[in-house]
Amino acid sequence: MDPKKLLEDSQQFLMNTYKKFPLVVRKGRGIKVWSTDGREFLDFVGGIAVNCLGHCHPKVVIALQKQAQRLIHISNLYHIEPQIKLARRLVRNSFADKVFFCNSGAEANEAAIKLARRYFREVMGQNRYEIITSHHSFHGRTLATLAASGQEQLKEGFEPLVPGFRHVAFNDRDAIKDAITKDTCAVMLEPIQGESGIRMHDPDYLRDVRKLCDDNGILLILDEIQTGMGRTGTLFAYEQFDITPDIITIAKGLGGGVPIGALLATNTIAAAFQPGTHGTTFGGNPLVCTAAIATIDVLLEDGLILDQCRRMGTYFIKKLEELKSEFPSIIADIRGMGLLVGMELTRDGMPIVLSCIEKGVLINCTAGNILRFMPPLIVTEKEIDKLVDVLEHIFDGLS
Ligand SMILES: *Cc1c(COP(=O)(O)O)cnc(C)c1O
Repeated sequence: MDPKKLLEDSQQFLMNTYKKFPLVVRKGRGIKVWSTDGREFLDFVGGIAVNCLGHCHPKVVIALQKQAQRLIHISNLYHIEPQIKLARRLVRNSFADKVFFCNSGAEANEAAIKLARRYFREVMGQNRYEIITSHHSFHGRTLATLAASGQEQLKEGFEPLVPGFRHVAFNDRDAIKDAITKDTCAVMLEPIQGESGIRMHDPDYLRDVRKLCDDNGILLILDEIQTGMGRTGTLFAYEQFDITPDIITIAKGLGGGVPIGALLATNTIAAAFQPGTHGTTFGGNPLVCTAAIATIDVLLEDGLILDQCRRMGTYFIKKLEELKSEFPSIIADIRGMGLLVGMELTRDGMPIVLSCIEKGVLINCTAGNILRFMPPLIVTEKEIDKLVDVLEHIFDGLS
């Protein structure tokens, strides 16, 4: 179809929920994508941390093809082999004992909120329901996860929101301490805040919060939807903060591109879910679980990709720091872990994103002035150099 006609139809037939760039991406391989008008791009957005193995990784493609011929969907009323095998892999490689599968990040967080509440009612026999979350946090767009999120502008016009959430200052241990009441059931945090601009806590913060939760008998839920699946250089980010959470949620990179989310918890907590308490038609369907198995197997094979992610992350941040010393009036801060990297600008980031597209690189801007980079974990030095060259060229034109 003619690219211009596609853009017209897009406006006519789709609800206007995304600010879209005038670009139709048709094909992808590894870190590269191609648009319908024949241009080639390096993709440093990676589907917002989804395409962790790059586009159309052959092992994921072949797994999907085979499974599509065998069985695409079957109800959760029956045991599903790929679902069982995927759960086993997630449990074997985490703190958790049990997994619940769903279809997105928001759904995983919804399930976590329901599980935390029900755990206290059913297992502990206590009426605790309130969850403490952090300012600037992002936990999803459903009504409960929106209420959980610490960003007021996302909530405008959607009231009344789901009650039972209390928001505290980011990275402030004492604020959490003061917010805990007899009604509190959990603290829910992103190990690194993604959407609000790669905000990192102090190194000891999560350990302190873990202790606060233990001292008060409440749960620690980590939203690893963006930080999980190798993004920060370990399968889950919590591993690097030296803590064990009670519940984590994952999605984004889990399926290597297909929509799947998961809730992971210990046996004691998972016992609060019994037949009939929670469910979803598509959750953990054979097709998506097969893709996720292929993805996690490639990620964990000899630890090669995680190792590459850590090395490339260090290289990337070093190169961006060099850029920062070259353009101190444009770049305010560089931060990140593994290949979840942010560059805080002293100005609006959108013009930079548009210039990058013109020069053949896709990058993301979040929270107005933060350039966010989430390339596939297979990114190479050469590709990072290309991005840094493009940015240098653009910044040169600004100063
Ligand atoms: C993306 C994201 C979500 C929401 O996931 P969806 O799949 O878009 O519903 C929730 N929490 C965090 C930390 C995220 O990055």
